[in-house]
Amino acid sequence: MAFLKSQNHNTFFYGWPVLLVGSLITIAFTYYAYVNVVNENFLRSQYESDEIIKEIEFQLNQYEELLLQTRGFIQSSEEMTRERFRSLIQNLDLKNRHPEIQAFGVGKRILQNELSQHLKKVRKEIPDYSVWPEGIREQYYPIVYLEPFDEANKKILGFDTYSEAKRQKAIDRAINTGETTLSGKVYLVQDSFTRPHPGLILYVPFVNKVPEFFYVAFRAESLFKTIFHGERLTLDVEIFDGDTNVENLIYDHDRIIRSGKETFTRTMKIYGKEFVLKFAPSLTTKNKSLYRAPCIVLLVGMLFTILIFRLFGLTKKSQIELGEALASRDEFISIASHELKTPITAIKLHTQMVKRNKLKINDPVNLSKMTSDHLNHTEILAQRLERLVDDMLDITRIRAGRLTVFKELVDVNTILREVLDRLQDQFKALPESTPEVNYGVMTTGIWDRHRIDQVITNLLTNALKYGEGKKIIITTSSTPTTVSISVKDHGIGISNEFHEKIFQRFERAGINSKGISGLGLGLYITQQIVMIHGGKIKVESEPGKGSTFIVELPKTC
Ligand code: ADP
Repeated sequence: MAFLKSQNHNTFFYGWPVLLVGSLITIAFTYYAYVNVVNENFLRSQYESDEIIKEIEFQLNQYEELLLQTRGFIQSSEEMTRERFRSLIQNLDLKNRHPEIQAFGVGKRILQNELSQHLKKVRKEIPDYSVWPEGIREQYYPIVYLEPFDEANKKILGFDTYSEAKRQKAIDRAINTGETTLSGKVYLVQDSFTRPHPGLILYVPFVNKVPEFFYVAFRAESLFKTIFHGERLTLDVEIFDGDTNVENLIYDHDRIIRSGKETFTRTMKIYGKEFVLKFAPSLTTKNKSLYRAPCIVLLVGMLFTILIFRLFGLTKKSQIELGEALASRDEFISIASHELKTPITAIKLHTQMVKRNKLKINDPVNLSKMTSDHLNHTEILAQRLERLVDDMLDITRIRAGRLTVFKELVDVNTILREVLDRLQDQFKALPESTPEVNYGVMTTGIWDRHRIDQVITNLLTNALKYGEGKKIIITTSSTPTTVSISVKDHGIGISNEFHEKIFQRFERAGINSKGISGLGLGLYITQQIVMIHGGKIKVESEPGKGSTFIVELPKTC
């Protein structure tokens, strides 16, 4: 039996609802944060895609501006010459302001019957001039002026831009509508001598006596690099001429073609041309921006929940522990009162008997003997009371860490003899239990005399209490460093499960000790004293076969 029963409460039981509700709230908030981030991201992406489209439009508008400006000059002047065109373009300072422009040129319609005349005229300035690709066509739109007139561009003078389908379509639209027109994806002729790059051409028509056009040609990559200034975009962009087939791809910002639910497309209509722009969160920013906020919410929420769960658990735990402590205190008071009251009642009885005998018994010899018996019993009972109170005081001292020892050189055999002497009346009452004592040699050590006396007394008293009046064997022995005392009885014994428990406070070994008075403190105090001397105590016992308690003390500690 234990006063401090371990009530099998699951203290965390009370915390589980808190954990569940806290987790659900956290999950809800995390989801809310995630949805918010996704929405915000969507809006930001839309905004950024708008910005990118505006940038592209702005850049193309600038090119148109250049073309219109040049056309304006030409319109207001008498006749265009190669020199005049060159100086006009040089004034525009294209090299510095728009290095991405590959060519700024003029194309002129030449009907089939005008071709030889045209060739003759241009060859006066440029002897090896020809219109190409060769072939008889109804009309030609050869490039007649071209700047910068560098090595790459020189090669494409005379190229009939009308001979290629996409260019033809754009030129027709520009001439027929009078509007600025953008070609679809083309490969610039300049690049055909090296590595082909997708490019675009912007045409501004000039319908004078004969239809002409001004144009700028640029590689798509150079154009978009200029627009994005080499920035790392939060959105990756892929630009297609028409639908999003790979062969229509004009530009891919990070050179990775994407698909998936995070991509979205926008259409951009400009100068008669429709482009599809495919956007996707850029690989470098995607994960960080999208998941950081929900992760933080989840982490903080769960930490907070676990904290409350723990606090709640602890509060409940301490409430339960407090309840248990109060219950065990009441139980202890009731048992301690009973233990104290039993000897007090017996003492009262003996004093009453002495008083009564004095009145009733006239024989002085008999009276004296009876009085002496009663006084002896009273003395034993008083000793028992004293021991109980001492035990309780010791418990208080142990709890407060104030169990002090006064060490001196003592012999265990001497102390054992004194204890046996003190308990001789109790042994006489149970003659069969009279101990067989085997005194060892070299049994001295540096210990607290009073405390070692207490240890031996406790073990012998228990052997008497639980020994069923059968033989008790006490042995002392020594090694060069230790001294041992063993107390063996042949009484009720202790089952295995209690071998450790009986050394705890208020612990008694089950039903075996029922009917035998005791507070369950003696062995606890004994063990504390042994430990304070640096020693060990153990029990060997089986129910019904008696018990042996063995104490081992180091000679010096
Ligand atoms: P108390 O004897 O006051 O109950 P103890 O702390 O001295 O307290 O002993 C604790 C328990 O150990 C006892 O209640 C008893 O059940 C068991 N015990 C102690 N000594 C013996 C023994 N020699 N034989 C059988 N059981 C014992």
